[in-house]
Amino acid sequence: RVKDMGRNGFGFYDSSMNLDVERNLMLNMRLHQAIQQGDIEVYYQPILDLKSRKIVAAEALMRWFDPELGFVSPEDFIPLAEKNGLIHKLGVMVLLEACTQAASWQKISPITVAVNFSSVQFRHCEQLQETIVDILLKTGLPASQLDMEVTESLLIDQGHSLMKMLSYLKQLGVGLSIDDFGTGYSALSYLQKFPFSKLKIDRAFINKMATSSSDESLVSAILAMAKSLGLKVVAEGIETEQQASFLQEHNCEFGQGYLFSRPIPAAEFTKLLLDEQRKQESLVLKQPA
Ligand code: C2E
Ligand code: MG
Ligand code: MG
Ligand code: MG
Repeated sequence: RVKDMGRNGFGFYDSSMNLDVERNLMLNMRLHQAIQQGDIEVYYQPILDLKSRKIVAAEALMRWFDPELGFVSPEDFIPLAEKNGLIHKLGVMVLLEACTQAASWQKISPITVAVNFSSVQFRHCEQLQETIVDILLKTGLPASQLDMEVTESLLIDQGHSLMKMLSYLKQLGVGLSIDDFGTGYSALSYLQKFPFSKLKIDRAFINKMATSSSDESLVSAILAMAKSLGLKVVAEGIETEQQASFLQEHNCEFGQGYLFSRPIPAAEFTKLLLDEQRKQESLVLKQPA
């Protein structure tokens, strides 16, 4: 079935498409309201050092709880916001919120914050760059404590201004991660061409590792490649101890997933950091002089 026929597109039609259109119109309206009423929240999922099992970063993830619709997944509303342009507003909201939060977390632990960026946000590169710098200055978060997560789709059709922006941000110390690695279609050469610092293995691969030895091989191949390119690796979607230890044995440095924690509100994340700090302090106290 054919969707996405453009603004004035007429095309094939079936009843399920009609439902899609209606639902999207409704979601569109609701999303506008949600932004105005502040119904969009930011949750944070810990990213851990797999060896020490300590929190090294927080990935900021948007959450929308609509009074009537309930929880609307970002997988549903982000594509919509990309189409209607609201992604720009949402993007700035999340970045500001995440940097403010991360700046305050620095007093507990020197963690970084990872923020997802949609390719659409980069259509106005200069403006986006300015926004990022402004927010870093305003919140006082050191540039080195921010990681930008982008997907491969950004690298298709990119122009000169994108490269300029990414190099500039890298100079400032901002990290750049390639998200959902392994799910795209482009040639791998982009990994060398763009100033990436991290690679995040998509959870689809981690998920299948237990049942498929070819996925295990894929994951170790990705780890070897990342190492030779000097990229740090984060494994997404770790749900079992088995997966965590396989990754650890294959020198994957970082991981995130339900095994450690689901995405949680900022206040809960603060508690996790404080708990960790307390444990650390009691360990130090227990050590013989
Ligand atoms: P992502 O950036 O790849 O984020 C990781 C997703 O995996 C999150 O889904 C997270 O909740 C989920 N996840 C983490 N660990 C596990 C696990 O162990 N098992 C399973 N089954 N899932 C796990 P979420 O929060 O639903 O977000 C989905 C996608 O929506 C994100 O994928 C990202 O592409 C997009 N997104 C979310 N927040 C933002 C945002 O602020 N801006 C933009 N541009 N995109 C966002
Ligand atoms: Mg991400
Ligand atoms: Mg991902
Ligand atoms: Mg994803």
